[in-house]
Amino acid sequence: MFHYDRGLKLTAIDLAIDVRRRQPRGFISHAHADHMARHEFAYCTPETAKLYHHKFGNRPLRELPYREPVELGSMRLTTYPAGHCLGSAMLLADDGTTSLLYTGDFKLDESATARTAELPRAEILVIESTFGDPAYRLPPRDEVIGRLLELVYQALAEGATPIVEAYVLGKSQEVTRILTLAGIPVLQHPLIYEVSQIYRACGVDLGDMHRYADGPLAGHAVVVPPRMQQTYPLRGLKKTVTFAVTGWAAHAATRFRLGVDHAIPLSDHADYDDLFEAIERVQPREIYCTHGPASFVDRLREAGLNAHPLDRGRQWLVPQAKLADGAQPANQSRM
Ligand SMILES: [Zn+2]
Repeated sequence: MFHYDRGLKLTAIDLAIDVRRRQPRGFISHAHADHMARHEFAYCTPETAKLYHHKFGNRPLRELPYREPVELGSMRLTTYPAGHCLGSAMLLADDGTTSLLYTGDFKLDESATARTAELPRAEILVIESTFGDPAYRLPPRDEVIGRLLELVYQALAEGATPIVEAYVLGKSQEVTRILTLAGIPVLQHPLIYEVSQIYRACGVDLGDMHRYADGPLAGHAVVVPPRMQQTYPLRGLKKTVTFAVTGWAAHAATRFRLGVDHAIPLSDHADYDDLFEAIERVQPREIYCTHGPASFVDRLREAGLNAHPLDRGRQWLVPQAKLADGAQPANQSRM
């Protein structure tokens, strides 16, 4: 049904899935740069289509709205929300004999700015397993948000500008909405603000947020791309308290690695326990793991699952036993 040739391909219909090089036909699960290319013809959700056009101009594509099956050659393709960012999708492919679910990047938790993931059953599961190590059991979302807000309020009370570093697409809008829902207005870096306009055009309300202009405003937080001060400096900032919001914050060294005052484990990827929960929901007979540590395949096999690596995986941060502040010890699963 599928093969791997420098990327996942649905063999019968020659559809490349999330391949970073130009393809005759490419499915794009979401608009992060490591999942798309200027394909000759693309397939994606309507929201991802807007982001794709924003990045690459007006290129030919077919929109696949969530839960609306489309026949392509001998296959029926259906997208489902993946909970990762605007437009992010899982892809269910069914050739009448076998079904395959490709998760793309996904998260099971609720999100303020992305539709909650839905996982249909499938016989073959290709699962994105970025946090496929028990060191990446993240604290509950409410707890993480509570910690972020507490530190942001504290910074504002001290007359400092809270600067939150987050990826331009997805995490920036999520953290903006979390802050504005808590009554903290946000100024966004211009690069982020551009993408936020697409969120707004797709009906996602981000609350009281504006484009950062000449300087910080009292009582406002500022959301910027990662490593902003080296790459995209903003004018007028004085006293600041900096934050990174990333699942990697479960790793104690992340704060130092990213050079921020606080690393908050707010993730847009499934954590270790969520990966198992996703498998439980899909009930596959075969599992192929991608984007994660090789040891995750071993862990699944130890659990009696028929698991294989899809590829050699990307470079992966080796976790340490010691967890960051606020993270739970490994024996306190939230499942
Ligand atoms: Zn992604």
